[in-house]
Amino acid sequence: MTTTTTAGTTALTNIASLVTNDPSLGDGTPIGLIQDAAVVIDGDRVVWVGESSKAPATDNAVDAGGRAVIPGFVDSHSHLVFAGDRTQEFNARMSGRAYSAGGIRTTVAATRAATDAELSANVARYLAEALRQGTTTQETKSGYGLTVEDEARALRIAREHTDEVTYLGAHIVPPDHADDPAAYVALVTGEMLDACAPYARWIDVFCEKGAFDGDQARAILTAGAAKGLHPRVHANQLSYGPGVQLAVELDAASADHCTHLTDADVDALAHGATVATLLPGAEFSTRAAWPDARRLLDAGATVALSTDCNPGSSFTSSMPFCIALAVRDMGMTPDEAVWSATAGGAAALRRQDIGRLTPGARADLALLDAPSHVHLAYRPGVPLVTAVWRAGERVH
Ligand SMILES: [Zn+2]
Repeated sequence: MTTTTTAGTTALTNIASLVTNDPSLGDGTPIGLIQDAAVVIDGDRVVWVGESSKAPATDNAVDAGGRAVIPGFVDSHSHLVFAGDRTQEFNARMSGRAYSAGGIRTTVAATRAATDAELSANVARYLAEALRQGTTTQETKSGYGLTVEDEARALRIAREHTDEVTYLGAHIVPPDHADDPAAYVALVTGEMLDACAPYARWIDVFCEKGAFDGDQARAILTAGAAKGLHPRVHANQLSYGPGVQLAVELDAASADHCTHLTDADVDALAHGATVATLLPGAEFSTRAAWPDARRLLDAGATVALSTDCNPGSSFTSSMPFCIALAVRDMGMTPDEAVWSATAGGAAALRRQDIGRLTPGARADLALLDAPSHVHLAYRPGVPLVTAVWRAGERVH
């Protein structure tokens, strides 16, 4: 990876089509598309966008070569602090064979056994992999430590790599607490929370049958909020349940997965401030039914797309792949999917400075080797991201 810093203002010119995500710009659609566009960057910020012919004079210029530029992807949901992988479990699942030894516990054991340096190197590796595919903001979680020391360690390591860090001590009840889940909830809301809060911005809980029920999830999220951590929820992934409505009630930034929704759940998301974050890599990798993005969008909910990158149920760091799945199988238009992978992710992290290319936004851009953002879905599996700028620096 090379990093290039250029002094003064830089114009990225000869952009065939520019996604700004500002409906007041360009063609008036939600993605604010501008044809024959330019972007001017000063330091880490965008200072001007518009038609190339009207661009102000700058110190430097980069020719986009008649290709498309989009905001850097905002991946608002991943689990990158782990060791080992689960190849055999995936292979068995895709081969129709039972596999009883798998699951989150496999990764918990490998993660606990890993050194700090090994975990940090893994996080760096997957962040670099995502960056090459256009992801300029990445949230990531703990959740494979499940002891006070191992959860705090995971968050301390995550914090060395990204500001968007989530405490997920409530991923599953670990085997050593299987006989007394209440004691584990007390730990997650007590000593573990105290050790983890300094490193995290968010608190999350896997609200699902076999993980944490609605009452436990409420106790965990409320305890986190009292320590200054804002809620987000793994909700309604494997079955119907209370997660989505609890998320909206507690003003969680996001309810993630949203695969099994009642009409009341959809209504709550449409009328609340909680973003519905859909993670199609998980359904792809488990051969499960897709979440219905069309239903949420038609109801008026804000939808984000994210990878859920983790070694068990969605081992992809590719936002373009998620966009392609969302368009092909979840009823999203290409415009909607690109918006959800950029501005939607920013909304799921309650960020105003990313996910859009407008004056004042952080200069996070992806240049596609294609004339249009539609190619992200039209040409699935093709590595179209050819250059990436983050905070004004060319990083890929
Ligand atoms: Zn997850």
